Amino acid sequence: MDQKTRVRLNLLLRLFCLSITALFSLTAALAIRRERVVDAWRPTNYVVNLRFDDRLTEIVEARAEINILAVKKLSLVDLDFGDLTVDSVILNASSAPFEQKNETLAVHLPVPLDAGTTFTVTVLYHGKPKDGLILTTDKDGKPSAVGDNWPNRVHNWIPCLDHPSAKATITFNITAPARELVVANGRLASVATNADGNRTWSYTEAVPIPPYCMIVAVGEFASLMPGQPAITPLSFYVPQFDKQVAVDGFAPATSALQLFTQTVAPYPYEKLALIVGATRFGGMENSSAIVFPNTLFSTNPNARVSTAFGIPIGTVDVISHEIAHQWFGDSVTESTWSDLWLSEGFATYFASLFLQRYEGEQAFQESMKHAAETCFAYEKKNRIPIFDRDTEDLFKLLNPNNYQKGAWVLHMLRTSLGDDVFFRGIKNYYDAHKNSTADTEDLRRALEGASGKDLKDFFARWVYESGHPQYELTWEWQGKQLSLRFVLRQLQSDRAFSNPIAIDIITPKGKRRITINPVNKNTVKVIRLEEQPSEIVLDPDSTVLKEATVKKSG
Ligand SMILES: [Zn+2]
Repeated sequence: MDQKTRVRLNLLLRLFCLSITALFSLTAALAIRRERVVDAWRPTNYVVNLRFDDRLTEIVEARAEINILAVKKLSLVDLDFGDLTVDSVILNASSAPFEQKNETLAVHLPVPLDAGTTFTVTVLYHGKPKDGLILTTDKDGKPSAVGDNWPNRVHNWIPCLDHPSAKATITFNITAPARELVVANGRLASVATNADGNRTWSYTEAVPIPPYCMIVAVGEFASLMPGQPAITPLSFYVPQFDKQVAVDGFAPATSALQLFTQTVAPYPYEKLALIVGATRFGGMENSSAIVFPNTLFSTNPNARVSTAFGIPIGTVDVISHEIAHQWFGDSVTESTWSDLWLSEGFATYFASLFLQRYEGEQAFQESMKHAAETCFAYEKKNRIPIFDRDTEDLFKLLNPNNYQKGAWVLHMLRTSLGDDVFFRGIKNYYDAHKNSTADTEDLRRALEGASGKDLKDFFARWVYESGHPQYELTWEWQGKQLSLRFVLRQLQSDRAFSNPIAIDIITPKGKRRITINPVNKNTVKVIRLEEQPSEIVLDPDSTVLKEATVKKSG
């Protein structure tokens, strides 16, 4: 082989490698996150029995009975399940062959079942879950077991279909030492003392909830009630350490339940328990049994204190955020992870609405300003739409897009449609999807129905595309012609935003408001004005998520 040939071969090889790389990056760019949405079968009800050992270090005995509806013709049920030991699987009344690997428990059906058939799979198992159900000690050093399942960690202790779209009702029968209190989703049906002295607690959640909201919390809690009755049975379960501070610390809960009931709809569940215990989040919105971290009542002398509740504003915010989730996220659940902002954006915005009501307009404006700054910092580094179909790591979806930008999208809709129309649309959206799921298009249609407006372009630009407007407003008063000329430029690198922008023109005689309706990235507007303005204010009511500069020309 001569040199020349070798060079040509090298070149060919390199081209080949390049095209392979190009192919891979093209695949990566086109890759859409695969989600475990309800497809072939859906669970409709779970009955989960768990028996703990004396120190709550493991599940000694577990039995999960799952009612299932075949959505398609079915020969296999592929349950999500972690690595707890499976003792047996029963299909209706007969034992069934199963295979447990790669976080899946495959149950083989001896005869294929037609779509529409209902059946029961019962799994008997035991062990110490590696995640999802956190077995640890509480703040007092006492044993505790607390479910903490977002986004898809419940299958580490309950065989299930671990996707938010797979909502189901659930009954928990939890057997624990007599000294323990047990809290779970739904209504407490009974507490029975067994022959061995242990107690079995039965809770039933009668409306379907997403799997990540299924929870039990076991511990030697102090159990407390609020000072005033709430619109649903409300109770607090905290380590003895927090016993003295819990009633005051949870003070906003009663008012939050009331405000969201008035603004949206009746509270969706049988009761509400607020628990302090093990969670990796700042708060976890499990349906009717919210868990807050052990640091919730930690004192910080620098924290801004709420005038209405006498506790840090940050605590008011997290309590109202998790309570808002009972309606948004828990009752109306995101259909896919791309729709997560329907949960987090709503909870963030409704916590701000709670602030507006109880701390006043200034506190609300400050919270929206802070949310805007959080978005800008994020968007400097990330060009990802709110509706994110690509990000694989679900924890990375807990980002300013889904929280703060989602809240701003709702704020922009509210300010542009007006309170009456906006809240009517939100109520309609909630009523149509409560105890079920919704996607972004469902919200758009509900708000279009209430307003009679076409919101396709708004949703396309703000939810399905990335970025925010960076306005540069230049104004020039042309004294001879008695006219005022505006040029509104949008400096962001991507497509224009068409939000109407209010401008206040301040002159010695008073204030006049005009609106510019941008159609592209450069909009010119000229008005007649008799005297020179002393000041021009862009978006005076802060109704658009934007960065802006205002310049005088000439
Ligand atoms: Zn949240």
